[in-house]
Amino acid sequence: MKLAVYGKGGIGKSTTSCNISVALSKRNKRVLQIGCDPKHDSTFTLTGFLIPTIIDTLQSKDYHYEDIWPEDVIYTGYAGVDCVEAGGPPAGAGCGGYVVGETVKLLKELNAFDEYDIILFDVLGDVVCGGFAAPLNYADYCIIVTDNGFDALFAANRISASVREKARTHSLRLAGLIGNRTAQRDLIDKYIDNIPIPVLEVLPLIEEIRVSRVKGKTLFEISEVDNSLSYICDYYLNIADQIITSPEGVVPKEAADRELFSLLSDFYLTKVKDTSSAINPEEEMSLVVI
Ligand code: ADP
Ligand code: MG
Repeated sequence: MKLAVYGKGGIGKSTTSCNISVALSKRNKRVLQIGCDPKHDSTFTLTGFLIPTIIDTLQSKDYHYEDIWPEDVIYTGYAGVDCVEAGGPPAGAGCGGYVVGETVKLLKELNAFDEYDIILFDVLGDVVCGGFAAPLNYADYCIIVTDNGFDALFAANRISASVREKARTHSLRLAGLIGNRTAQRDLIDKYIDNIPIPVLEVLPLIEEIRVSRVKGKTLFEISEVDNSLSYICDYYLNIADQIITSPEGVVPKEAADRELFSLLSDFYLTKVKDTSSAINPEEEMSLVVI
């Protein structure tokens, strides 16, 4: 099964992906996580360091695929999760889709692409140009990480549109949304009332998750020494268990931009009337722009 995890930059895709990968491994699945963000830190909490990227490795070998060994690009991280970082195209030139294409091509040459029970692509979703949508060509499921704010839901809506587009030519489904770093879900609920999408889990802001990134460890590794944190692992195990059952998911019908602005901003305006403190200045700015 191939999964593509999308969401706006900084929303928690890599943190969530690494912990889901470990959770799947704990359920006896052979897992490969492929970081497809030019930031190339997707697998950091699995391996504890920044592994060389496929693009850097290809460049250093003058694109001679036959000179590259699996151990040059595939690093085994915590709980036996295998890790690859695609790397980024040259800044301001090149294309993210090309990078993903080269990564898949190389993994196929190394006979690694069909070796795993689950391959998880961790992909940024601020810009869903054809290039960054490329992992959807290989995926059975898309999963979107979002918080309870306008920007992340706007990105989620764009990603949903890409899923619908790609689902026309192969059997791709949107497994669901993961709410992250939010105690509230009213805006998420408002969105899915109009655009029906399952919610797999909602994780609050948890200081230990933030710290885990700095430590270069997943929550599973950290909770080995501090058992009081195992409740956090349960969120990720719950997501993994839903994935394993091959959920039905949806092919979403995204909102038109204008519809989305009015849907989420009407809601904002009511909130402003109700409780003037319930909206942060950044969110207020997006209303001004509207
Ligand atoms: P992305 O991959 O989407 O760019 P990251 O996974 O790198 O985002 O997360 C961005 C930051 O948010 C990291 O410092 C991470 O530790 C933190 N973070 C992610 N999820 C949570 C959470 N539920 N609670 C607290 N901090 C979180
Ligand atoms: Mg990331």
